[in-house]
Amino acid sequence: MPRPYIASVPDRPLLRRQFDVLVLGGGIAGLTAAIAAARRWHVGLLTKASLNDTTTFLAQGGIAAALGESDSPELHFQDTVAAGAGLCDPDAVRVLVSEGPDRVRELIEICPRFDRKDGEIVLGREGAHSVRRVLHAGGDATGREVSSTLSEAARLGSRVQLYEDEFVIDLLTIDGRCIGALSLNLADGEYTLNLAMVTILATGGAGQVYARTTNPEVATGDGVAMAYRAGAALRDLEFVQFHPTGLAAGGSPTPLITEALRGEGALLRNAAGERFMTTVDPKAELAARDVVVRGMLAQMRAEGSAHVYLDATGLDPDMVRRRFPRVTALLSEHDLDLSRDLIPVAPVAHYFIGGVVTDVWGRTTVPGLYAAGEVASTGVHGANRLASNSLLEGLVFGDRVVRHLDRYIGRLGEDVRRLQFELPARSGPAAQRSDIAAVRRAVTELMSAKVGWVRTDDGLVDALEELRAANSALRLGEAGPPEFELLNILTLATQITKCALLREETRGVHVRDDYPERDDRHWQRHITLRLPQARTAGGRS
Ligand SMILES: Cc1cc2nc3c(=O)[nH]c(=O)nc-3n(C[C@H](O)[C@H](O)[C@H](O)COP(=O)(O)OP(=O)(O)OC[C@H]3O[C@@H](n4cnc5c(N)ncnc54)[C@H](O)[C@@H]3O)c2cc1C
Repeated sequence: MPRPYIASVPDRPLLRRQFDVLVLGGGIAGLTAAIAAARRWHVGLLTKASLNDTTTFLAQGGIAAALGESDSPELHFQDTVAAGAGLCDPDAVRVLVSEGPDRVRELIEICPRFDRKDGEIVLGREGAHSVRRVLHAGGDATGREVSSTLSEAARLGSRVQLYEDEFVIDLLTIDGRCIGALSLNLADGEYTLNLAMVTILATGGAGQVYARTTNPEVATGDGVAMAYRAGAALRDLEFVQFHPTGLAAGGSPTPLITEALRGEGALLRNAAGERFMTTVDPKAELAARDVVVRGMLAQMRAEGSAHVYLDATGLDPDMVRRRFPRVTALLSEHDLDLSRDLIPVAPVAHYFIGGVVTDVWGRTTVPGLYAAGEVASTGVHGANRLASNSLLEGLVFGDRVVRHLDRYIGRLGEDVRRLQFELPARSGPAAQRSDIAAVRRAVTELMSAKVGWVRTDDGLVDALEELRAANSALRLGEAGPPEFELLNILTLATQITKCALLREETRGVHVRDDYPERDDRHWQRHITLRLPQARTAGGRS
């Protein structure tokens, strides 16, 4: 059976580029991998927007790493596994927590703006961390500082060839092996075959599958969907993390109020002004995110309200302004002030725990294809990600995929250069083209309403039917980026919903109203899926 590319080829010849290593995505994972790989190989990095337009750039709280005197990788391991609700891969977590401190020290050397006091790095506190462990930069502008530092290192200090505004449509495979990717330049409309001996997928998450998300516009899950089409195994798609404290006052993406504020003492209150997390968990506001979300849900249901409140009025206003300049500025756009107002907050789609299955070296099930960062399912987050572990994951595994390439590139060189492949011919315009923006709105609203942070069998069945109907009613005509993104969103929405329907329990971030208990006997396991025809084509490289 031919594999399902969504791209079709224009009549004119396609451009070609050839690299040793092709990196897709310019967030923390992609930049880390590209910079490391460029020390030895010819590296191309493609990103569909600018290097500032990433989820990494938006990160607020910081990076978790066991650097404090009272901390250790073992303690970080225990906290990560406890938050992961029975589904962390212990080997992957071990790698994360033990290699994390060295990777972070290397980052500190090139990123001078990590916050310090009396010369020492300041460590912040976040939910479910048993000690202060989170490094931050520029107060709550950690992502911007890290992203700018790595972008500069890639632009100036390395031999990475950067292509911004280059939309990757599909991975190219021959006989089940990945040999690069097809891309479309958004400025000049040229299609390019980017051939490489190794492709590293670092395209980030998929928050835009939901109508309300903290994620930037680029986070449409393209990488997960294209890996699926290429035959890669995906895992844990039902585990979408909803952050407890999205601002419940509009805005797209939804402004995030970092967990670090609760780490500094901000409290959650109900409409009557009472704390409620104290009755839910001994750690109260600093319980794991899934526990806080469930506590909020109970409160909001009891009150018939769509939000609760975050109260930072008891904190020192100068400290708050200094430590949280970005949140302060975001809130002032809504005429809200942390030192004066209770801030309305509600859970919002935030982090895609599932993704493309990898081993601890970032290898996917498709030979020649690696994955790192939010697009990957390394197993470090289990069913609930510990706060500030994702920047760390991008840093550790972005570096690690490259360490493994040595043997792999050496072995493959000649075959890849000889490979041939075919893409489907371009189809004519559809008679009645769908309104792509309207379909996308309907799909993402449906996901927020029925596959959001509380799920039921009825809602999921309805959602699946509506998604199937939307899929079969879709008339694309000549496809461009909006159509490609919609197809990717539809692919992910459908697979997330199917997995959520299968998992008949409540675990971590997956909350089923009709199965409110965790069921280890039946469900202490992963849901892994692949395109049916891909089952025989896989195998590790
Ligand atoms: C508001 C917010 C705050 C956060 N705060 C923290 C925090 O404090 N600490 C923490 O650990 N985590 C935090 N997270 C999560 C963390 O930021 C992300 O998980 C992490 O940055 C993901 O990095 P990445 O490199 O995998 O992907 P990204 O940074 O999202 O980069 C993805 C890249 O892939 C590119 N791309 C996507 N699709 C295509 C395509 N089709 N073609 C070409 N390129 C493509 C994008 O353009 C982008 O360059 C936060 C997330 C948000 C939204």
